[in-house]
Amino acid sequence: VIDEGLPEHSVVTTCAYCGVGCSFEAQMKGDQVVRMVPYKGGAANHGHSCVKGRFAFGYATHKDRLQQPMIRDAIDQPWQAVSWEEAITFAAGRLQAIQQRYGRESIGGITSSRCTNEETYLVQKLVRAAFGNNNTDTCARVCHSPTGYGLKTTLGESAGTQTFDSVMQADVIVVIGANPTDAHPVFASQLRRRLRQGAELIVIDPRRIDLLKTPHLGVARHLPLRPGTNVAMVNALAHVVVTEGLEDTAFVAERCGLDAYRRWRDFISQPRHSPEQLESVTGVPAAAVREAARAYAGARNGAIYYGLGVTEHSQGSTMVMGIANLALATGNIGREGVGVNPLRGQNNVQGSCDMGSFPHELPGYQHVSDITARARFEADWGVQIDDEPGLRIPNMFDAAISGSFKGLYVQGEDIAQSDPNTLHVEAALGSLECLIVQDIFLNETAKYAHVLLPGSTFLEKNGTFTNAERRINRVRKVMAPLAGKEDWEVTVDLANALGYPMDYSHPSQIMDEIARLTPSFAGVSYAKLDRLGSIQWPCNDAYPEGMPIMHERDFPIGLGNFAITEYVATEERTNRKYPLLLTTGRILSQYNVGAQTRRTDNQQWHDEDVLEVHPHDAEVRGIQDGDWLGITSRAGHTVLRARVNDRMLPGVVYTTFHHPGSGANVITTDSSDWATNCPEYKVTAVQVEKVSQP
Ligand code: SF4
Repeated sequence: VIDEGLPEHSVVTTCAYCGVGCSFEAQMKGDQVVRMVPYKGGAANHGHSCVKGRFAFGYATHKDRLQQPMIRDAIDQPWQAVSWEEAITFAAGRLQAIQQRYGRESIGGITSSRCTNEETYLVQKLVRAAFGNNNTDTCARVCHSPTGYGLKTTLGESAGTQTFDSVMQADVIVVIGANPTDAHPVFASQLRRRLRQGAELIVIDPRRIDLLKTPHLGVARHLPLRPGTNVAMVNALAHVVVTEGLEDTAFVAERCGLDAYRRWRDFISQPRHSPEQLESVTGVPAAAVREAARAYAGARNGAIYYGLGVTEHSQGSTMVMGIANLALATGNIGREGVGVNPLRGQNNVQGSCDMGSFPHELPGYQHVSDITARARFEADWGVQIDDEPGLRIPNMFDAAISGSFKGLYVQGEDIAQSDPNTLHVEAALGSLECLIVQDIFLNETAKYAHVLLPGSTFLEKNGTFTNAERRINRVRKVMAPLAGKEDWEVTVDLANALGYPMDYSHPSQIMDEIARLTPSFAGVSYAKLDRLGSIQWPCNDAYPEGMPIMHERDFPIGLGNFAITEYVATEERTNRKYPLLLTTGRILSQYNVGAQTRRTDNQQWHDEDVLEVHPHDAEVRGIQDGDWLGITSRAGHTVLRARVNDRMLPGVVYTTFHHPGSGANVITTDSSDWATNCPEYKVTAVQVEKVSQP
């Protein structure tokens, strides 16, 4: 962590921040990390890194690290430090008592996209096999669950289609609802290289993101749409493709389901989807939309990259399907330089979804109602698995408030800070009879906990992360866990204390079990990962070394499936009381809720969240840069300092949520995606007024 001269040896591992999944050499002196150096052999980063990954590992040995298990009878009582054995026994006893009193469905478990594949696999196994229900979920619920739904419905697989390197073959690059220079910096550098070589850029985003300021940028188009109108925009683009005859008819005829295609074509060619008809909805001039559609459809290779500005909406899943429709109609699927590419926020969003952390899916996206898949797991695990989906995270909160859900195990996720409508979340957590929090720091969620189990950082454990390009990378232990246990060992102990036997001596054995039960991981092993460096799933007999580009010959569902994408305006409307729209995002030097980066030198570059306000909106409210502002929504109220700039449209304000005091999620509502309950973080109607210093 601290540069202390020449290292004695080094270990190659994977960054624990964003979904790029950069490989690093942890250079060691004894058992001390002295330096983190980007690894030249890393397939995702080729020796590059960003300010988060390279300089922000100090949190691993920060004084705030939890090192002692603790318990308490009630949340208004002081913590009592105990041994691991006492803490696990206490937690298991409470969970068992709750189930005896309130029933099998009264408890559940949440895992995190920051954990390894092996850890998330074990949490869902704990819930299904030891708790005896399907009440398991992951924080991907609140970011990319619509990607899972939308891509599975249209392309047959819940994953991005390309490698990052594929962007170097793209001629037109469409970035929708993403800010790669801040959120995926190493991929953004690659993307910028391609733009400097002459690729054309189309940005669809309410905010003028930094990618648009790339030096020596050639043709660049910005479609600054109103927050909440993504589906209207993608429909307008598709309408132009269809009505102007810009489709790849050979691709559609050969690779797509023609009944679905004809239904979609009839739908999308209706005049109500034209850019002219939708101009008043999106706020983007029709001519600009037509030009963008022609550029993408006319490209030799058109690639789409998207982020949470697509998924975190009430129509997140619809928008993902709209993007896939566009790629199918133009034949931009199944080769280098094209594709549909979700940019995953956290290091292991892809992996936590792959590992069966959703209440309706076993590992490998095998639905719990699939008798054959269930039978395979039942035979291996020696239990019966429910054939009905369990509770999603927001359902757990609602059930806790109504009194039917009483116990929760949370591994590596600060739900009190990161989930929307904080007051609702806190009410739910406060009503639990047993909340077990396993984390590296005393986070906001831990304030409501009865059991605290110290977590381990990525430097303290073995495992794998899967990045946004489906690349499984090894995480290698470089130092002993500060509290004595790796995270997967804690889950094993809890299962055993609950009477369900788990027996592993190394995470490689967990991966062997995953491979045994999950067809898309059938060929994955630590030995192969060590030999190849990394593997992009699927990896099985058909693709023994993995599959860099998906859908080259066919789709897992046979033919590409066009989906009907009716635009429905969000219920979160502006009015006289709440006249502005708030949208949220991230900044380069901080990572998500900041639990890690705030405990590093990165804090010096961003020590508070601010509210970006357009000069017009500032002027009519008498707001100057630096003023304190009260921000009120239908859900709550917070106070932030003003940053007046014109990166947003008039009528739209913007903030980040890296600091607990920001209150960003106090004001976001619990509107959510119709298919997956992913929260609509990106659209909140608010009023903004000057206030005196808080
Ligand atoms: Fe790479 Fe992302 Fe880590 Fe930066 S934060 S080093 S881009 S994985």
